[in-house]
Amino acid sequence: MSYDVFVVGGGPSGATAAEDLARAGKRVALLDRAGRIKPCGGAVPPRAIKDFAIPDALIVAKVDVARMISPTGRSVDIHIENGYVGMVDREHFDEFLRVRAAGAGADRLTGTYLRIERDAAGTHVVWRDKASGNEVRSLTRLIIGADGARSVVARDEVPGGDTIPYVIAYHEIIKAPAANKDYDPNRCDVIYDGRISPDFYGWVFPHGDQASVGMGTGVDGVDLKQATAALRASSGLTGCETIRKEGAPIPLKPLDRWDNGRDVVLAGDAAGVVAPSSGEGIYYAMLGGRVAATAAQACLASGKARDLKLARKLFMKDNKTVFKVLRSMQDAYYKSDERRERFVSLCHDVDVQKLTFEAYMNKKLVAARPLAHLKIGVKNVAHLMGWVKPSWV
Ligand SMILES: Cc1cc2nc3c(=O)[nH]c(=O)nc-3n(C[C@H](O)[C@H](O)[C@H](O)COP(=O)(O)OP(=O)(O)OC[C@H]3O[C@@H](n4cnc5c(N)ncnc54)[C@H](O)[C@@H]3O)c2cc1C
Repeated sequence: MSYDVFVVGGGPSGATAAEDLARAGKRVALLDRAGRIKPCGGAVPPRAIKDFAIPDALIVAKVDVARMISPTGRSVDIHIENGYVGMVDREHFDEFLRVRAAGAGADRLTGTYLRIERDAAGTHVVWRDKASGNEVRSLTRLIIGADGARSVVARDEVPGGDTIPYVIAYHEIIKAPAANKDYDPNRCDVIYDGRISPDFYGWVFPHGDQASVGMGTGVDGVDLKQATAALRASSGLTGCETIRKEGAPIPLKPLDRWDNGRDVVLAGDAAGVVAPSSGEGIYYAMLGGRVAATAAQACLASGKARDLKLARKLFMKDNKTVFKVLRSMQDAYYKSDERRERFVSLCHDVDVQKLTFEAYMNKKLVAARPLAHLKIGVKNVAHLMGWVKPSWV
């Protein structure tokens, strides 16, 4: 069997790319190695639910409050107006996306990507079939590398693909307690505290009868398990049964190039695309899959490899500014407990809440009232220059 596009990786980015291509009538393969649940907090914004038609049945919790907690234990509850953050279990979510892609016509393959070979007949993806253990060579015109953080396709094919910076995120899936003074099944807690993470944050995300409790860091030598134990203790979750313990890298910076100028384009974590500050990657992975599919179609139609560049171009057109703002926020406020304290103070401001939540929920940087922008700007400067106390709101 020969393909128009061979998609390596069946996470949110690869499954979305394969589905879009299959719906467009292309011969598409979707290869996933299977057998492992992607470690993930599973929070998805309404924009993702809408744009990628995520069915309500996959949403295991609907979160309407985000609680930001400072190093000194001060907290601010941000109420989510007109909507909710959906929580998905990746075990079922990813499988649903792969089944949907296959239903649209993608050829679903289970096995491990090994390498790409090129000869007079064209480009081949060489992969090991899980059922038989045999090496298989599949002829294809194009390849989408959607094999996640530390992508082998990116490492082998795209300049810089092996040097993307990462934080390591670790979480424990626990049996959720009944609602109590510390735990609310409709609330996400985000913990900014250097004892939990010296450079990122910790979280408690509800998932129906389970919850994800974890943290991320790019600092070597941090004991992730100890930090998570401390987080569980401070959140009153020590006694809950632990179902799984797992970790994975989160890339921190989109690659400058997503294609190899020939026949490969990357999508999702493989391209380094996760939002700074939040570590949000599911929506961006699905969008990455979609723009990679668009670029692949353009390239198949024109025969011009440079059309693969369209993927990054389309993505950055809508998201470059948000990524820049989030990066500056992380650089400014995640570096010390004093700054984290100030960050939580800023979150008390209703206009800051509105702006950040609109950016997260709907992926739009809204033009708020000019005076609100001015006020936020002044507060920012006052905190960053140290003109006010860290707790000043
Ligand atoms: C602990 C943690 C918590 C997170 N929490 C959130 C959150 O709450 N919300 C959010 O939006 N994002 C979160 N993220 C980020 C999010 O999980 C990723 O950005 C997202 O999964 C990226 O999707 P992807 O399809 O690009 O890659 P992945 O989801 O990693 O999918 C890659 C796929 O490729 C397959 N694969 C890999 N190598 C091979 C190979 N050699 N052969 C065949 N198949 C292969 C894998 O099996 C996998 O299915 C979190 C990440 C971590 C680590």
